Amino acid sequence: MSGLKLRNVKKSFGSVNVIKGVDLDIEDKQFVVFVGPSGCGKSTLLRMIAGLEQISSGDLFIGDKRMNDVDPANRGIAMVFQSYALYPHMTVRENMGFALKFAGASKEEIAQRVGEAARILELGALLDRFPKQLSGGQRQRVAIGRAIVRHPDVFLFDEPLSNLDAELRVHMRIEIARLHKELQTTIIYVTHDQVEAMTLADKIVVLRDGIIEQAGSPLELYDNPDNLFVAGFIGSPK
Ligand code: ADP
Ligand code: MG
Repeated sequence: MSGLKLRNVKKSFGSVNVIKGVDLDIEDKQFVVFVGPSGCGKSTLLRMIAGLEQISSGDLFIGDKRMNDVDPANRGIAMVFQSYALYPHMTVRENMGFALKFAGASKEEIAQRVGEAARILELGALLDRFPKQLSGGQRQRVAIGRAIVRHPDVFLFDEPLSNLDAELRVHMRIEIARLHKELQTTIIYVTHDQVEAMTLADKIVVLRDGIIEQAGSPLELYDNPDNLFVAGFIGSPK
């Protein structure tokens, strides 16, 4: 079980309150998309869920377990960032296997998991290439592959496609939808792109200035936005 519960989660940096009390339920296997203007706290929220940032107050549960003080490596979470720094001196295969090797997995286990990720992401023919021999989209797939090999319960994506050109973004959006179907995991996905949000999400969470303005299915938000701000973000005519 890898549903998530956030209860009155807050974050401040010094005296600046950035996340001002977030309550959110995410069901197991749900695809949840965070949208909101730059600086509203999307990345901070993801980083707290991943354990890369300490929660100032409130509670985070994954399944039934309170995760506030659990080491990032033990949360069953993998995160894919917008700027996916691949190791330039390692092949695709080595890039994908590195975290497993670091964690002490056997050669057989690493080969099996890298093979599986390569199949899912259609990277099989590229395993011996180096990052500089790949296109932007292929590199982003390798970055996703590095997360897949860890078999996380929850994937966090922080604007993973925003550095790609428009055509590739559309292609990768379809890939990510397929990935969610195939892996059957919980995904939390941050994007600026309305179309991405509307097509990928089971649930959209609209954030503004450190609080949730509204959360619901794409259709609910489109048909019944609580206010003009939400309507503006979702693109509905209200
Ligand atoms: P978003 O991802 O929605 O663009 P962020 O979560 O990156 O927003 O940032 C939210 C706010 O928190 C911004 O005002 C940002 O400047 C501030 N912030 C983020 N990280 C830090 C930090 N480490 N120290 C101080 N302020 C930060
Ligand atoms: Mg951000």
